[in-house]
Amino acid sequence: MSDTIFGKIAAGEMAADVVYEDDDVVAFRDIHPQAPVHILIIPRRSIPTLNDVNDNDAELMGKLLLTAARIAAQEGIADAGYRTVINCNAQAGQTVFHLHVHLLGGRALQWPPG
Ligand code: C5P
Repeated sequence: MSDTIFGKIAAGEMAADVVYEDDDVVAFRDIHPQAPVHILIIPRRSIPTLNDVNDNDAELMGKLLLTAARIAAQEGIADAGYRTVINCNAQAGQTVFHLHVHLLGGRALQWPPG
C-alpha cells in the first residue's frame, strides 16, 4: 500500500502519463500543466518532503535532477531554458507529500514565482 497519489503511481497502482521510469525514479506529465512541458520526477520510494532527505539520499537526489535534465533534452526545451522546482511544505504550496521535482518549460517563465 502507498500513502499518497504519487506513491500509488510509483507502485504502478495508479495510471499516469509516464515519460520515463527505472528502479529509482518515475517521471510523468502533470495533470494540471502550468507550462507546455510540465513533468514531475519522483523517487519510487516515498520521501514526504525535502526536509526528510538525508545523506543516504544524496545519489537519489542527484538522479532526480539528472533525470529532469535528460527529459528536458528529450522534450526539446533544454536550449531555450526550463525550470526545476521542489515545493517544500505548506507555505511553498506543496500539496502532495511525496517529494517531487517539477520540470517546467516550453514558454517564458516569470521570476520571482508567485
Ligand atoms: O508541488 P506540489 O505538491 O504543489 O505539486 C503537486 C503537483 O501534482 C501539481 O502540479 C498537481 O497538478 C500534480 N498532480 C498530478 N496528478 C495528480 C495529483 C496532482 O499531476 N493525481
